[in-house]
Amino acid sequence: MRSVLDFEPATLPAELDDLRAEVREFLATELAGRRFTPTSDSWMSAADLDFTRALAGRGWLGMTVPKEYGGQGRTALERFVVVEELVAAGAPIAAHWIGDRQITPGLVQRGTDDQRRRFLPGLCSGDIVFAIGMSEPDTGSDLASVRTKGVRVDGGWSVTGTKIWTSGAHIAQAMMALIRTGPPGDSRHEGLTQMIIELPSDGVEIRPIVSMGGSHHFNEVTFTDVFVPDANVFGEVGGGWAGVTGELAYERSGPERLLSTMPVLRLLATRSLIDQITLGRLLSRAWCLREASISIAMSLSRGHAPDAAAAVVKELGTRYEREVLDAARGAGVEPDFTSPDELARMLAHAQVMSPTQTLRGGTNEILRGIVAKAVGVRAGGAR
Ligand SMILES: Cc1cc2nc3c(=O)[nH]c(=O)nc-3n(C[C@H](O)[C@H](O)[C@H](O)COP(=O)(O)OP(=O)(O)OC[C@H]3O[C@@H](n4cnc5c(N)ncnc54)[C@H](O)[C@@H]3O)c2cc1C
Repeated sequence: MRSVLDFEPATLPAELDDLRAEVREFLATELAGRRFTPTSDSWMSAADLDFTRALAGRGWLGMTVPKEYGGQGRTALERFVVVEELVAAGAPIAAHWIGDRQITPGLVQRGTDDQRRRFLPGLCSGDIVFAIGMSEPDTGSDLASVRTKGVRVDGGWSVTGTKIWTSGAHIAQAMMALIRTGPPGDSRHEGLTQMIIELPSDGVEIRPIVSMGGSHHFNEVTFTDVFVPDANVFGEVGGGWAGVTGELAYERSGPERLLSTMPVLRLLATRSLIDQITLGRLLSRAWCLREASISIAMSLSRGHAPDAAAAVVKELGTRYEREVLDAARGAGVEPDFTSPDELARMLAHAQVMSPTQTLRGGTNEILRGIVAKAVGVRAGGAR
């Protein structure tokens, strides 16, 4: 019998090399034209809608979405190659990241035909940005305790409550929100519903939260009697818990969970600032984690939801990302936002973002609980 933590053999077919070369050539041209500055953590903190649309023009958004909905009808492994090149290069992909990573596959698998037709073409062209509204001021890890409430009204729902840490809400046209629409039941997982809330809408207020490094990528979003039509209920009313947990493998297993600091490692290596043993250790770890991430991409494309394996990738991957920063400090690089040196500036940004890596998408303590439960050990943690 297969264990819940078995990883499928993961090999990228050789024919994907041409696609990889195409992405690298595109990135080299964009860099040469100074159309982006490489940064660590670019998938979370570097949003550039022009760059997003340029990728869409190449067919590198919505790659696995069927053509009839504006996508490319390509495979999960083809998408993997494109996104790992973009993340490793530190390209500004935050504007479409959430939409492309988990909203598009969710819509394809569980959306109504009307929802697919309204949202997928815009997601694939870069014209619709999605945010995710799960966390609330008193609800992060214990997601089942969300208090944003939906009350039944004629033709839909009236939503009131507050979401927090909502990445990209200020540039988004829609939010996939988790709403309490009924009593929690014994499991606390009943009575939750996912809804697509279009932005802006009457009764929605989006306030910026500025991070330690001075950047603005997440927000507090309040809803006051916001009308959400029945057509925007995503999945079954009351079936929201299965919906959000089903998306978590997409959220936790991708190459961004281990490559956020790769632009730093690339500069350390190309400038010969770290010794061969440290470099070999970091690259071999990256390679193993990458194999695991590819394996999950393959599983997801076959319709499986390898939640525990995805938790393993995120837990190990985000700790690995910090080790890259430790190596930079060990090599004597001083983080400095105002330095003329690209590496010092990049390291300063990476250092400030570093605490967030093990929080966002579920904290490492929670992920360890998921892994422990999956192998039959009782442990705490919900999300
Ligand atoms: C950069 C960034 C972007 C984000 N973007 C979004 C977004 O777009 N949308 C969104 O909805 N949310 C977003 N979040 C929120 C994120 O999902 C939460 O921060 C995360 O789930 C943790 O919740 P919390 O902050 O409320 O911490 P808490 O849940 O309050 O946890 C605090 C500490 O207690 C520990 N802890 C909690 N419960 C347990 C337990 N049962 N066992 C052991 N330890 C436990 C945690 O591990 C953590 O160390 C983002 C966060 C960050 C940092």
